[in-house]
Amino acid sequence: MYDVVVVGGNLAGTSAAISATEKGAKVALIEKNNVPHYPPHCGEGMDNITASFINFNQIPCKTNTINELIINLANKEYTIKFKNKVLITFDRYHLEKELIRKTKQQGTDLFLGNTVKTYNPPHTIILEDGTKIEGKIIIDASGINCVIGKKIGLKPKIKPMDIGVCIQSRVKTNINPNKMKAWFHKPYADYGYGWVFPIDKNHANIGLGMPGGQHIDMKKRLKEYIQHEIHSDYKILYNFYSCVPLAEPINRIVKDNILVTGDAARLANSFLGSGIANAIFSGCLAGCISTDFIKKKIKNLELYQEILRPKINRLTKVYQKRNKRFSDKNFINAYARTFSILSFGNKLFPNFFHKKIKNALGEDVDIIRKYKKTSTLF
Ligand SMILES: Cc1cc2nc3c(=O)[nH]c(=O)nc-3n(C[C@H](O)[C@H](O)[C@H](O)COP(=O)(O)OP(=O)(O)OC[C@H]3O[C@@H](n4cnc5c(N)ncnc54)[C@H](O)[C@@H]3O)c2cc1C
Repeated sequence: MYDVVVVGGNLAGTSAAISATEKGAKVALIEKNNVPHYPPHCGEGMDNITASFINFNQIPCKTNTINELIINLANKEYTIKFKNKVLITFDRYHLEKELIRKTKQQGTDLFLGNTVKTYNPPHTIILEDGTKIEGKIIIDASGINCVIGKKIGLKPKIKPMDIGVCIQSRVKTNINPNKMKAWFHKPYADYGYGWVFPIDKNHANIGLGMPGGQHIDMKKRLKEYIQHEIHSDYKILYNFYSCVPLAEPINRIVKDNILVTGDAARLANSFLGSGIANAIFSGCLAGCISTDFIKKKIKNLELYQEILRPKINRLTKVYQKRNKRFSDKNFINAYARTFSILSFGNKLFPNFFHKKIKNALGEDVDIIRKYKKTSTLF
């Protein structure tokens, strides 16, 4: 029997496996794909604190620094300039590949290209090919599917409007590599937003994400948005559709011997759809807490829930605010006020975003340091 079995081999899952093996647990990781998703289902934008936590400078993954964000709402532009290197874009495929490689290198048994078919509580996971894997603790890192959580009643039903339905193209063109764009609401992404995330001076991820249940021809909308944003020749290299949870986090992320992490726990920000930092943080924490429990350093797994409670409360507030704005007749005015304040505040306090991100994510790194004894993932 394994000490820890991780279901899902992306950011949350590999972070959990790396942290648990490092602390001495015997770990298995099950991932339904042979290699990470290609193309990665992501805009590939991230903050600099998470980037240094992952040790980006040690892995073969190019990064690009963003200096400026231009937000458009109802044809009015709001500019936010970043004085420090707050935001980067990166090629997530290389990160995911590297995380799987590190996971294996550290001694986790990998079951790649294998889908979890069913779970017989408390210990047995059965794969599609019939293999049985037993774990004292199971970490659910299966993304929005939340396959194990669902089986034991931790996954509440999700409303269509709480699922961010996304379409994205990787576009080859000439582009300013340091300027990010976001277009909120109509005419491209009703109640959501479109993005232009440059990866380098010749490539950008251009996508749309909006609440589900709206019956919109997303492919047509994306074509219109790309044509609006790109004024030179361009070529679409690939497209994909995907989903991100825009719901409030699930209330219980621990039950018996199960810990739920990342998108499976709905830890993405429901306003922006960003979930990379929380997937890595919660995965890492789940790996540490599970191993401390196995090694009898802590008495129960509930500690995972307690540590994540402030984050869950913050994300719940974001969700409540977002929902209130949907029912607000002055939806556009409410967001216009927010963007005006952000843009004006940024002029007065150019380090505002740097400090805010540093404070929020710095706390996460401090927590990990306490349980992992290092401030980097590997
Ligand atoms: C279009 C799009 C753009 C985004 N852009 C950004 C961005 O720019 N910045 C940002 O911070 N966030 C972004 N996000 C959100 C971010 O990608 C997610 O929050 C993050 O990937 C969550 O990581 P995770 O490991 O929890 O889940 P996932 O990445 O969903 O990984 C879950 C893994 O579990 C595996 N799995 C699922 N079911 C099973 C099963 N039954 N058996 C075995 N394996 C299984 C899957 O194959 C997958 O590898 C974006 C999301 C989307 C959809």
